[in-house]
Amino acid sequence: MEDIKLLQEKVKEEAEKKGIVILAHHYQRREIKEVAHYVGDSLQLVKYFKDDKRKIGVFATVYFMAETASIYASDLGKEVYIVNPKAGCGLAESITAHQLRNLKGENPEKEVAVYVNTYADVKAEADVVVTSAAAVEVLKNFDEMIFVPDYNLARFVEERLGKEYVKWNGSCYVHRQIKPEHILEKKEVYPEAKVMVHPEADPACWEVADFVGGTGGMIKYVEKNRAYVDTFIVGTEIDMATSLKMLFPELNFVPAREDAICYQMKMSSLKKLYEVVKNLPEENRVLPPGEFSELAKRSIDRMYELVGR
Ligand code: SF4
Repeated sequence: MEDIKLLQEKVKEEAEKKGIVILAHHYQRREIKEVAHYVGDSLQLVKYFKDDKRKIGVFATVYFMAETASIYASDLGKEVYIVNPKAGCGLAESITAHQLRNLKGENPEKEVAVYVNTYADVKAEADVVVTSAAAVEVLKNFDEMIFVPDYNLARFVEERLGKEYVKWNGSCYVHRQIKPEHILEKKEVYPEAKVMVHPEADPACWEVADFVGGTGGMIKYVEKNRAYVDTFIVGTEIDMATSLKMLFPELNFVPAREDAICYQMKMSSLKKLYEVVKNLPEENRVLPPGEFSELAKRSIDRMYELVGR
């Protein structure tokens, strides 16, 4: 514990000295989130990075999130680094740009929505990028669509909007293992608890949930209900529970499954963060994705326009 505190102090000192902003995803380890200037979901982190006056961003995230920030970095005269450049994402890797081009060829009349959990070359093929929080709001503006890569999220939006999409069989291994029986087991122990579930989880979970939505939506749901209930069962990656605990220390947050762990996110450690903040190694630099930058940015900005942000 002492070691962690000491290292956290050293990270903060180095960041301060070099004018570095540290950004961490909700699924990151708590000791990293405690030293981050911003904690959020992937596009929130991009927005924080864009709006912050510091010129160097160190991302404690998986790669596609830092890559998305890098798309905006050069216009702002900023630099992006990632704690672990090998931190991938099973869902982002489930579809390639080539596969999406084939799908577009088979469905030439349909527009294309791509989940933010993809790489820039895939985003560049899209008409619009969506987050789990904004998917319903954005896609109500479209009819015929291809929506990739997360199958469960696409089904969730289909259900909400009464539409049918051309889907892809992509999934996140962390979320797809969360099943209704795990939630019901927790409900037996905490019968008064409210249940929140991510739309990437098994659709059967939605039936036993009080709320289905992304990480930002979960925070809002807790804010709205904290006066009536003090325990929430959290159906997503385990460290969302630590993010919520940091925001609402007086409440209890119980992961639906203790082994719903994103190992790619956990490839960042406090020690690695310190090394990156201290040395800014070239191999941890994330450069904009060349020819894909402009097209990917256009698809992301279209989402921002549609949700009025
Ligand atoms: S939780 Fe799943 S979708 Fe999110 S970064 Fe990890 S592997 Fe990717």
